[in-house]
Amino acid sequence: MSYTVTNPADETFVAEVEHLDAAAADAAIAAAAQAQIEWARLAPADRARALRRFAAHVDSDIEHLAGLETANSGHPISQSRWEASHVRDVLEYYSASPERLIGQQIPVAGGLDVTFHEPLGVVGVITPWNFPMTIAAWGFAPALAAGNAVVLKPAEWTPLTSMRLGELALESGLPEGLFQVLPGRGSVVGERFVTSPAVRKVVFTGSTEVGKRIMAGCAEQVKRVTLELGGKSANIVFADADVERAAATAPYSVFDNAGQDCCARSRLLVQRSVYDRFMEGFERAVQAVKVGDPADEATEVGPLVTLAHRESVASFIDDSTPIAFRGSCPEGPGAWFAPTVVTPERGDRIATEEIFGPVVAVLPFEDEADAIRLANDTEYGLSGSIWTRDLGRGIRVSRAVEGGNLSVNSHSSVRYSTPFGGFKQSGLGRELGPDAPLHFTETKNVFFAAD
Ligand code: NAP
Ligand code: MG
Repeated sequence: MSYTVTNPADETFVAEVEHLDAAAADAAIAAAAQAQIEWARLAPADRARALRRFAAHVDSDIEHLAGLETANSGHPISQSRWEASHVRDVLEYYSASPERLIGQQIPVAGGLDVTFHEPLGVVGVITPWNFPMTIAAWGFAPALAAGNAVVLKPAEWTPLTSMRLGELALESGLPEGLFQVLPGRGSVVGERFVTSPAVRKVVFTGSTEVGKRIMAGCAEQVKRVTLELGGKSANIVFADADVERAAATAPYSVFDNAGQDCCARSRLLVQRSVYDRFMEGFERAVQAVKVGDPADEATEVGPLVTLAHRESVASFIDDSTPIAFRGSCPEGPGAWFAPTVVTPERGDRIATEEIFGPVVAVLPFEDEADAIRLANDTEYGLSGSIWTRDLGRGIRVSRAVEGGNLSVNSHSSVRYSTPFGGFKQSGLGRELGPDAPLHFTETKNVFFAAD
């Protein structure tokens, strides 16, 4: 079995990737379990040094990794470079962790009581196709830092940068077996991470539907699980905001990465009293978005990841869809889809379901209470933005919106030093931030009797 990677910008051949079967996945998991024992025994400073060397190898390969991502996923080259450098940064950040997994000494009678953060063993990381190498790093870097081995299953559509990261790990001197990238089908390799008793935790990023199945599967062994799932996040623009700035920046909060972003603010809630003024500025901004050849340095938005995904995005739109206006995109071969602004009713499918493409639903609201009600009227709760000049309103609304990652007067993207994850059906657990390595450990309490 194999998968043919095609460049989504022009439909040319990129690579043929061999798929592992379940037996090969089992062999890799066994090798990882073996490698983990030695890795956990290393002095913390030596594990830290090994991760810094891995980061340095990623740093010297940034151009190459960026080119691979642009060819495989269609990401604009400037964005791909940022993604590769983000992988380096995440590795550098967590290279400080092995020496800082500090336990507690708890006062008790009759002896000494201390806690240890013990590694889990082998961790299975399953990634989606939208941000292949960055999401992989959010799992493997803190997991390795905490003394675990990692097996990584990239999405079938986008394996190339993850496979390169596997090579770079070895070239940097990480032990054989410690970090392995296993291309294959979700239902084969990913499924083994869930069912194999040697894998002690699964970190899954992807659709809510598959995430629920993984959680149910992990329950069988009480296996640890972190889930980063879908979203239908709201960008809320109040009448007291800098409406011009909110309109000028809104396209990038939902059309970046062609809308293939779990944090995309795909619902745009605008207070009715400034609706027309906002839409005027928003239309100008949408039409100015540079959609085109991802190899071009000036390009802001590339194609969708595959022709199959374009079909899925297009299925949300038909002749009856209330389209307000659209941006532009190239014609001819490639998975192109123009940025699209729609004005549906609140309950319409296009306003409630995750599309994962460059489509935004604009919905007017009346007042603060209405905005909060509407923002929370979804099974998801991942991210969101709030635009207001009223400090009190910024505080009230950011505390009231049910979402894991909010920003006021910006569309803050992910930072590796702050926690990331979802409320409700957007996920379970958190990634990134200072605590991430702890999520790859078990707390052990030991009492040493004094007599
Ligand atoms: P997906 O179908 O859920 O796939 C995600 C990953 O799971 C892929 O590697 C896939 O492998 C694998 N997989 C599929 N079935 C599996 C199974 N039965 N057992 C184990 N693994 C399995 O999602 P997608 O289509 O790649 O990505 C789009 C979705 O991801 C969107 O809904 C989006 O919101 C979500 N997402 C969320 C976040 C977040 O941080 N919250 C980030 C990015 C994306 P194959 O590729 O071989 O099918
Ligand atoms: Mg899928």
